[in-house]
Amino acid sequence: MADDESERNPLLEKEQIQRPQSSGSSSSINASTGDVESDPIQSLLSSNSINRSEESQPEKLLSAKFESLDYDVCENALYLREEKKKTTKEIIRKELARWFVSLAIGVCTGLIACLIDYLIELTSSIKYGYVRNYVEKCVEDFCLYAPFLMWVAFNAFIVMFGAILVAYGEPMAAGSGIPQIKCYLNGIKIPHVVRIKTLICKVLGVVCAVAGGLAVGKEGPMIHSGAVVAAGVSQGRSTSFGIDFKIFEYFRTDTEKRDFVSGGAAAGVAAAFGAPVGGVLFSLEEGASFWNQALTWRIFFASMTSTFTLNVVQSYIKGNPWELSNPGLINFGEFEDSKYAGFEIPIFMVMGVIGGLLGALFNQINYMLTCYRLRYVKQRWNQVIEAMIVASLTATAGFVTIYFNNDCQPMKDKTQTNLVQFFCDDGQYSTTANIFFQTPESSVKDLFHNQPGSYEVKTLGFYTLVYFLLATWTYGLSVPSGLFIPCILIGAAWGRLTGIFFNYAFPEADWADPGKYALMGAAAMLGGVVRMTISLTVIIVEATGNISYGLPVMIILMIAKWVGDFFNEGIYDMHVHIQGVPILGWEPPVMSSNISAIEVMSHPVTVFRTKETVGRIVSILKADEHHGFPVVSNFDPHDGTISRETFGTFEGIIIREQLIILLKLKVFEENPDYQLILKNIKASDFRDTYPRFPPIQQINLTSQERDMTVDLTVFMNPAPFTISDRASLPRIFRLFRALGLRHVTVIDDKHQVIGMVTRKDLARYKIWRHHGQISMEEIQISHG
Ligand code: ATP
Ligand code: MG
Repeated sequence: MADDESERNPLLEKEQIQRPQSSGSSSSINASTGDVESDPIQSLLSSNSINRSEESQPEKLLSAKFESLDYDVCENALYLREEKKKTTKEIIRKELARWFVSLAIGVCTGLIACLIDYLIELTSSIKYGYVRNYVEKCVEDFCLYAPFLMWVAFNAFIVMFGAILVAYGEPMAAGSGIPQIKCYLNGIKIPHVVRIKTLICKVLGVVCAVAGGLAVGKEGPMIHSGAVVAAGVSQGRSTSFGIDFKIFEYFRTDTEKRDFVSGGAAAGVAAAFGAPVGGVLFSLEEGASFWNQALTWRIFFASMTSTFTLNVVQSYIKGNPWELSNPGLINFGEFEDSKYAGFEIPIFMVMGVIGGLLGALFNQINYMLTCYRLRYVKQRWNQVIEAMIVASLTATAGFVTIYFNNDCQPMKDKTQTNLVQFFCDDGQYSTTANIFFQTPESSVKDLFHNQPGSYEVKTLGFYTLVYFLLATWTYGLSVPSGLFIPCILIGAAWGRLTGIFFNYAFPEADWADPGKYALMGAAAMLGGVVRMTISLTVIIVEATGNISYGLPVMIILMIAKWVGDFFNEGIYDMHVHIQGVPILGWEPPVMSSNISAIEVMSHPVTVFRTKETVGRIVSILKADEHHGFPVVSNFDPHDGTISRETFGTFEGIIIREQLIILLKLKVFEENPDYQLILKNIKASDFRDTYPRFPPIQQINLTSQERDMTVDLTVFMNPAPFTISDRASLPRIFRLFRALGLRHVTVIDDKHQVIGMVTRKDLARYKIWRHHGQISMEEIQISHG
């Protein structure tokens, strides 16, 4: 903040507000210790039942390290000059380029999905082939410890590679990446999230995690991969590798890049589940603030091309060119007999409740584990060892289950060579072994489609329990890992159990199809854990190719979400909040309408004058971490005689990066070449260094130059969004959410600057739902 502005401030005294400035450690609405009755803020606190968070739970802190994306276009003189000069040809070229980039995103994402699938199939078949041969030999020779040790060693070794890639290569590649992409689409720059290195570690890491037998899926990571592809392709360069193809330079802005990333995420969903519409809805549900028609159309195109590419390439890999039956990495298979009766809907609803409860339990256990990890599993080698332990335990659990639960079923078809016989007689196969000895995707299909009577109750019960515990432990390990598959498997197992129960209870009933109940269980479990509704319904409908099940699936997802929300947050939101990311929800916090801009804003404000000295710019940029600065007239920073309530007449807003480029290019009025520089400077000079601008410390200026002045009027945004000091929090929230803003200046009736509001100021107001209670809390900003 400006050097002489940190003194006592009458405005603050009047309103009894203490703003959390750079220390950020105190709750920002701070009732004065004086007369409670006469204190408007105190009454506000009680009327809104705002609890001040004193506990040190990680999700009750917002981290200052995350910066926002700016979706608003800076309409400065340079931009307008560029726009005016645009010819029809250029406009068409740019629009065509947008479509071309969307196509390229779809194709590349589809190809990456194929690569992941191919590598997993290859590694898994080698692993299972070896272990299976040994088992079959050792059943007769009583040397079962050998294949067991081999299985454990295979798993631990393969997973070790994945964990090393993540822990030492790029920690951002861990997990599914969906929380990070959600944040990006919400408007927050998560460091390293869309880097090529992250993509490489993600792709190779997920192959290791799945092939290493962990309770993970490859679908979630596809969404992240699609997003990175989009960010890379649309920028026409890789800053990490220092390669610049000198194309698509006009897409080097937050707005364009975020649009393409939403297309990439959608293409990822499309390739993962064969669900292009689900992909579009995913991007809209998670990111878009408003329905942007042109963008939706392009996102849809990227999704379609992505499934198409995957389908075509898979048909060639499988040896049936152009037999397009593999639109996604996972395919739930056809439900031929897709009937359900009206009276089953209440049963499905109860399943939704069970899914919600189990999901809440899943998330709670995972939350506790994550907190434990944050505290005690910090070193990289510890993370690698933890992943190896879980991999070994997964193999052990599989082996023990098979050993003690020899559920033999007759082989229907002699050609089913992939079935594992284990301890069963000839002509039979072990269903337990089969669940563990194939890729999770095949297990999902089996649970959905195997004939009634294919599984024993104890097999499914034990499997549900073991997989539930393993999956809760696995999500959050230092490996790329998707959550969809584990949730579907757990849900399908207990769902099938429900079906079997009805079969026992009503032996005559033809509606009690275990496969159908397995699907409903999977939906319930997914809904309970991830709590997405719109896109998930469509994804399930598309992956089953079955519209009839749409309504029950939707009802189940909704109920599972409601029930789960009663206890805690969805797993993705939980991980977002644990990281302290200042994400903004869909709606403003309830109970916040009597909080006004004055209470939300930061005050005092660091401002620049329309003609500012180079020295003051440099010293403020060095001392302050802010990114947006109001540009004002009628303001004297050196006038110490007035006690300041306002900070000059608002003229516009300027961004830190713009100032740094101005200093770098020495656009100083006293410069002899000033007119020439002004004539030649282009909007692209500001885009060139996007997204990594040089820090202010790298700008060297002589003491003579420090006395020069910069005319900020040419470069500032002269018409940014401002807000009146009387605006309510919900109003400011909607402005930010709908327009994707980074900062807004608060002005009074006389157009004087009185405060600044950024995303973090809004994200601090959080609604907590706990055991049915709703309360609003103000969380603190941590600068750690
Ligand atoms: P971002 O981090 O999104 O790039 P930023 O660094 O400008 O933006 P935040 O990190 O969100 O802003 O803000 C931290 C705190 O600083 C907030 O409480 C915000 O209101 C305050 N702030 C931001 N800009 C100014 C400014 N020019 N003068 C005074 N306070 C500011
Ligand atoms: Mg900041």
